[in-house]
Amino acid sequence: MQPNSPWSKHFIQVAGANNQAFTVASQQALDNINSLFAQCTKPYSGLTPDLLKEAIYNSNLDKVEPLQQVIEQTNDLIAKNSIMVQHPHCIAHLHTPPLISSVVAEFYIAALNQSMDSWDQASAATYLEQFIIDWLLKTYALGDSADGVFTSGGTQSNLMGLLLARDWFAQHYSGHNIQQDGLPDYGNKLRIICSDKSHFTIQKSASLMGLGERSVVCIKTNIQGQMDTVHLQSTLDDLLAQGLLPMAVVATAGTTDHGAIDDLQEIIKISRHFGLWCHVDGAYGGALMLSQKHKSRLLGMESADSVSVDFHKLFYQTISCGALLIKNKTHFKSLLHHADYLNREGDDLPNLVDKSIATTKRFDALKMFMTLKGVGANTLGEMYDKLIELTQAVAKSVQQNSHFELCCEPLLSTVLFRLSTKYQGLLTLNEFNQLQQKLRLQLLTCGDAVIGETKVDGKLYLKFTLLNPCLTLNNFDNLFKKIERHAQQLIPNT
Ligand SMILES: *Cc1c(COP(=O)(O)O)cnc(C)c1O
Repeated sequence: MQPNSPWSKHFIQVAGANNQAFTVASQQALDNINSLFAQCTKPYSGLTPDLLKEAIYNSNLDKVEPLQQVIEQTNDLIAKNSIMVQHPHCIAHLHTPPLISSVVAEFYIAALNQSMDSWDQASAATYLEQFIIDWLLKTYALGDSADGVFTSGGTQSNLMGLLLARDWFAQHYSGHNIQQDGLPDYGNKLRIICSDKSHFTIQKSASLMGLGERSVVCIKTNIQGQMDTVHLQSTLDDLLAQGLLPMAVVATAGTTDHGAIDDLQEIIKISRHFGLWCHVDGAYGGALMLSQKHKSRLLGMESADSVSVDFHKLFYQTISCGALLIKNKTHFKSLLHHADYLNREGDDLPNLVDKSIATTKRFDALKMFMTLKGVGANTLGEMYDKLIELTQAVAKSVQQNSHFELCCEPLLSTVLFRLSTKYQGLLTLNEFNQLQQKLRLQLLTCGDAVIGETKVDGKLYLKFTLLNPCLTLNNFDNLFKKIERHAQQLIPNT
């Protein structure tokens, strides 16, 4: 590209060229973002969804404007009407306020635009991703034969873990190569076992892998939300007696609603006994490995065949950022395909595409590098300790508040609660559920609070998912008052 091309101002230039356009635009965006956060008083602007949609659809893509103006419009229309994940009352999902180290890493990731598929697109980046993976393997004590790869998050990690399990099983069971020959004739008999509180991406993975959702068998959970391992044993016996072929057990380390961590040691033992692959979905609770106080809750994870970890949740990374770790690196061969233009068979330099289902892939490992160096694994662990303590305290204040009713003791950092039955009055359960659904939507669309909603045994519960370790109990006192005020508007006579 010639620096004097009419398009030069649209690209970053090299070799001492003037990058004023880049500097000016970056500074303008930074100033705008900073003042947006400084002025933010609500987790959502309160613009009605209809008006927001209309404003966005009114943008005329045929009208090209100077970048400076586009940045201002983006700020006013998009940024100001975004869900403000840094606000203390934005606590619906496993959707984290990102660390500054991660946001700044994004600046490098975007400007350098390395692609992780091959070394000739990601020289330092290839080694850095592997360096961080090696650190993770050590942290999770997966042993010398282990390996891993960065993914776009828990969904992709779960899919990959189960895909490797499926291919391993067919090879092991009948010498069948699914990568080459597709599903074997017993494909409709394959079964994946998880708990009824496992993440829905287990069903979704089964469907994508050509096994169908019906191949997923759910084990009931105890009152703590953990897989009932006695039921796991008897179910495996039953499946075998029916001539079906269980291939993998999925244990969850931190269920999305309750934060329940399955008995990993027992599930590993059972998986070994039946000769099955054991995948641990640690998208939420896997982070506890950094907490000196709570890491023992993950005992057994070191023996898993595959583990999903998700950095854009409790590791406070910007989206997207996750990893799949596997105990025996040879299983990655199911994903290997040589392409003449990209990863030739005799390549000496490493090409990470060899173990990924993605080709072009983001350099997300840089965010974890800058976080581990700039914040530190121990500090993250201390944040989790604080968070778990705060969650317990929030649950206690729900119990002490006559307007609310707690669903169950929190296990990790979620609090499930609902309006006290005094609000139910003569309403049926269904009507009472709908009322609370309306309450959540009203809080969201007026911009007062972004809280979660789920169902437990047919009852609708509101949900807080705590991630921000800087919150205090005081933030929650204010939030409870807001919820009470809205509840009383919906049901005036309480
Ligand atoms: C969030 C979550 C997932 C999905 O991960 P994404 O990063 O959203 O793709 C899977 N399993 C559990 C337990 C989760 O909490």
